[in-house]
Amino acid sequence: MRETNFIIENNARHLWHPMAHPAEMQANPPRIINSGEGVEIVDIHGQKVLDAVGGLWNVNLGYSCEPVKKAIRDQLDELPYYSTFRGTTNSPLIELSYELAEWFKPDGLSRSFFTSGGSDSVETCLRLARQFHKVNGQPERTKFVALKKGYHGTHFGGASVNGNQNFRRNYEPLLPGVIHLPAPFPYRNPFNTTDGAEIAAAIGRLFEDEIAFQGADTIAALIVEPVLGAGGVIVPHETFLPLMREICDRHGILLIADEVITAFGRTGAWTGSRLWGVQPDMMSTAKAITNGYFPFGAVMISDKVAQVFESNKSAVGSIGHGYTYSGHPVGAAAALATLKETKRLNVADNAAARGEELLAGLKKLQDKHELVGDVRGKGLMCALELVSDRAKKSGAAKDVIQKVQDATYDAGVLVRTSGANVIMSPPLIVTAENVQTILTALDAGL
Ligand code: PLP
Repeated sequence: MRETNFIIENNARHLWHPMAHPAEMQANPPRIINSGEGVEIVDIHGQKVLDAVGGLWNVNLGYSCEPVKKAIRDQLDELPYYSTFRGTTNSPLIELSYELAEWFKPDGLSRSFFTSGGSDSVETCLRLARQFHKVNGQPERTKFVALKKGYHGTHFGGASVNGNQNFRRNYEPLLPGVIHLPAPFPYRNPFNTTDGAEIAAAIGRLFEDEIAFQGADTIAALIVEPVLGAGGVIVPHETFLPLMREICDRHGILLIADEVITAFGRTGAWTGSRLWGVQPDMMSTAKAITNGYFPFGAVMISDKVAQVFESNKSAVGSIGHGYTYSGHPVGAAAALATLKETKRLNVADNAAARGEELLAGLKKLQDKHELVGDVRGKGLMCALELVSDRAKKSGAAKDVIQKVQDATYDAGVLVRTSGANVIMSPPLIVTAENVQTILTALDAGL
């Protein structure tokens, strides 16, 4: 590898980063991560920190997962690529579709369609939802309903259902016919209440009202994250998703669960849908499906949706959608090994137990530091919302948030910031001791 200065200088010169201003690279360069082991990463200056971001909500099994690394190496030797477009496919992918059908059986999902990541998976769900209604004889059902503060990736479809202006404004016009409902967010909502059940019911009424106004026969699907991640870890009340499911069912609207973050144990349940006792019609997954070691995703499809496609032999049922890397054999091998390790290590239970410890510790930090306005979490997805004034709930200044992140890093832990939120999504293999390390560093940072 080239020397440190060459790497740092050329980052600013040649590289544009996602979710960053290109002009920011000189003044506020990113941390350059050179290696990882277990739950720790080492930067270009040799500083070792605990990765409380877990890569990007995806390195659930940490950086030393040998079975996944070996599966990738072996598959590269055996068959490094082959297309899965009509006419060809590959064996690890077929085995994976079997394993995923087993994995998602409790969610009522039995068919899979493969992608190269989360945005692809969301796009696939949106397209298949529209096509489902065309195949089903209701071609006018084209609109989508989503939540404010929801995050669904960055393709045009995903950006159109995103509920954060930062991912929309500079790319408009986006898809027409998208309706956004308020997020089920006790800390900030338009209903003047902090009661989660009341908020859920109020959103349900707004959803019904929109359905009446738009016409149920114009709406294709509702897309939701079971726990909203990038929007600041917003945990809905337990009644929320069942209510959304019930309303969708009554009006023939598909329910898409965007589980790009939540599908493999992060919330402490094996899927976010299962956490709330709901079966979606489609589910987008990616990220931890390969432990983050290979770009890959899967859309899971329910029997109900599958049967409509499979029983219609006309051209409208043919899937005119897919990617060169849909079902990459190396990704499939990585996913097979990841699923096996994920199950063997029972990481969902660890996420639930460690998540409770982390949340309890964060609440103590809230008692101690005025800067912390709100604390939220489910399993190993947690957030602190930083405020400059608790009573007014005004967001902390950008430089204050940056200082918290930097000081926490100096104390040995990398956390992520998004707006005024400090987000934690460590690998699901963290120990109780690791959780204490995160809390101690954050305390210092705050
Ligand atoms: N959907 C959700 C819920 C996500 O959190 C993300 C990414 O964080 C995406 C979709 C997009 O995934 P990707 O960045 O892999 O395209």
